[in-house]
Amino acid sequence: MATASITIELDLPDGVEVREYERHGDGHAFHVAWPLPDRCRCDRCGHEQGTRLEHKATFYTVRDLDIWGQPSFWVYQPPVHHCPRCGRRQHLLPPFKRADVTYTYRFERHVLTALIGSNEEEVAQRLGISAETVALIVENQLADSQAKQVAPTRVIRSVGMDEISLKKRHKLYATILTDLSDPIRPEVLAVAAGRDRAAAETCLNKLSPPQRQAVASHRTDMSPAYLSACKDLLPNSQSVIDRFHVAKQLGGVADALRKK
Ligand SMILES: [Zn+2]
Repeated sequence: MATASITIELDLPDGVEVREYERHGDGHAFHVAWPLPDRCRCDRCGHEQGTRLEHKATFYTVRDLDIWGQPSFWVYQPPVHHCPRCGRRQHLLPPFKRADVTYTYRFERHVLTALIGSNEEEVAQRLGISAETVALIVENQLADSQAKQVAPTRVIRSVGMDEISLKKRHKLYATILTDLSDPIRPEVLAVAAGRDRAAAETCLNKLSPPQRQAVASHRTDMSPAYLSACKDLLPNSQSVIDRFHVAKQLGGVADALRKK
């Protein structure tokens, strides 16, 4: 019998390692592990000591990015610290997801970029999640972004600025700033509520002044608010009107003419 091996390339967050791989229906399951802290402080009684590790006798499954157009999942046995003083067992949260959700941070960022030029129903359907989950992800990302700056050492040559909207249930508009330095892999830099100049500035100010000066090109839709914010805050950057954005704009003009 002939055998073949297939290599799956996987970017992993710092410290996360894959222990096992399993084909799982139409998806991929990776058994993952991450470094655990040497010491833990008890949430209940405040006692701190060396981690006393236990594993819950169950597996958690967390949605990650698609591979070859199929969903992939990270699977782990949740590690728990057992406090010897009060007996409390508390979860040691993995670094790749927030508490009480079943998807990774980078899946959340993927949902944000998927919303560009789309809507929550379509994104939910494409990714096999509910529209409520899409809305929750946007809200969590908005809250996180408020407190976060972009790492000042990051080199950013090209950015994109786009509007996303959740129209169905919530009337929510947001502005996303993406790093397009590697055009194949756009990465979310910041997200802010609203689609006006203030939202655009909030996103751009997540970059340090030297970082903003180093940006050489930006792609936005033709929104005057985005164009003027980029012109002022990215002093050395050329505006590139994206074909996708132009197509959308022309579509809008055609619709307007038809309506007349
Ligand atoms: Zn305790």
